Amino acid sequence: MAPSEKVIIIGAGVSGLVLAQILRQGGIPYEIYDRDDGTNWQGWAISLDRCLQSLYPLLPSDIQDPAQASPNYGSGKADGFWIVNGVTHDFLGVTENAPRGHPDSMIHANRDHFRKIFMQNIQIQFGKTFEKYEEGKDGVIEVFFTDGTSTKGTILVGADGSSSKVRQQLLNGFKASPSKYTSILGSVTVNEELCAKLLGQSNSGLLVADRDQKANCLVMDHNPDGTSLFCWVLAYKVAEYEKEQAWARTATPEALFEKAKERTAHWPEFMRDTVSKTGPEGMYRPFRLLETVLEKDELPKGRITLLGDAMHSMLPFRGMGANTGISGACLLGKSLLDGLKQGTSVDDILRVYEREWIPKSREVVLESRAAGAGDENHDLSGGRIENGGP
Ligand SMILES: Cc1cc2nc3c(=O)[nH]c(=O)nc-3n(C[C@H](O)[C@H](O)[C@H](O)COP(=O)(O)OP(=O)(O)OC[C@H]3O[C@@H](n4cnc5c(N)ncnc54)[C@H](O)[C@@H]3O)c2cc1C
Repeated sequence: MAPSEKVIIIGAGVSGLVLAQILRQGGIPYEIYDRDDGTNWQGWAISLDRCLQSLYPLLPSDIQDPAQASPNYGSGKADGFWIVNGVTHDFLGVTENAPRGHPDSMIHANRDHFRKIFMQNIQIQFGKTFEKYEEGKDGVIEVFFTDGTSTKGTILVGADGSSSKVRQQLLNGFKASPSKYTSILGSVTVNEELCAKLLGQSNSGLLVADRDQKANCLVMDHNPDGTSLFCWVLAYKVAEYEKEQAWARTATPEALFEKAKERTAHWPEFMRDTVSKTGPEGMYRPFRLLETVLEKDELPKGRITLLGDAMHSMLPFRGMGANTGISGACLLGKSLLDGLKQGTSVDDILRVYEREWIPKSREVVLESRAAGAGDENHDLSGGRIENGGP
């Protein structure tokens, strides 16, 4: 490895953090920056499965097993979810619930709990908002932050999410496209009876398939008093979606709550109860669902690349965003470890990674788009159950 290589990672989401862990394990110098101080995180639950086989062999042994993020870890129950048709209320299937350690196992947890595990033994520089970079002829990249400070490295990875500023500079102003979906989300503590209905035959919760809207309602924590915290996310589309999204961005919690009740009025009773119990106090500020479809299979020549949602943000309906981001972090991390050891040029290492990962991740973005494109007849399970659609 060239001793002078230092990787600067912008963004401490799951993708940037996993890359940092792999570099740390491999002894490659890195720095990781995030604009947030770690307290602004809006948690929702995510399921990791497709990335686990690549991830486990590369993680350092001095951090916790990511499986410990799951609310079911203590009980030993296998994570998994089920799907119900919001229109007919038919049961559509349940994921396999493979036991932990099995190649098909899933870890379902609050995104922030995963993030906290991946932060272990990593020094993150918080409160640093990336502003721009400058590339010197000597291969040194200077990264500037909005607080007037800067840092230098020799490889820059933009893992700064769907509105990536690194990507914007690298690709001359490229911006992710807004989807037609508006999101509304909330969290609610439910009693054992309602929890049992939400879990159905699964241990993590459910997805609801509907014509012009989809939702997930997934467990975040089981509390010692027997209650459980669930987070639900409703994504819906209407003809005047731009107007609707503008409304959601400024709507009061009361108005968001009323909208959620109205849109789920025809759903099964236990789902209506869950939304009703959330109340305005349980509503979060909606986020924008953006899609990133990169046209070319590689990024411009040089020492800068992209990772995670910065490369491939997608609609959440097939549960593949973080899986793809983490698998990409494994590929990039391993390519850097092996390539630098063998003396391969940084430009070659990054372009080989991109030529493999941009087309693969683009395919996943388009599959997720198809899942949200039309009616409820598209597989929302992401191929995790045989009959993922009604
Ligand atoms: C409702 C919902 C459910 C989902 N369910 C699943 C699921 O089940 N399975 C799955 O695989 N995926 C799922 N996803 C997708 C998944 O959450 C994302 O793909 C994943 O979190 C992206 O991680 P990331 O690290 O690439 O980006 P982010 O998590 O967006 O992290 C980017 C980081 O960069 C920081 N940042 C941004 N701009 C700057 C800047 N200018 N300077 C410095 N820092 C900056 C941000 O603060 C942030 O910490 C779901 C998404 C949603 C919305």
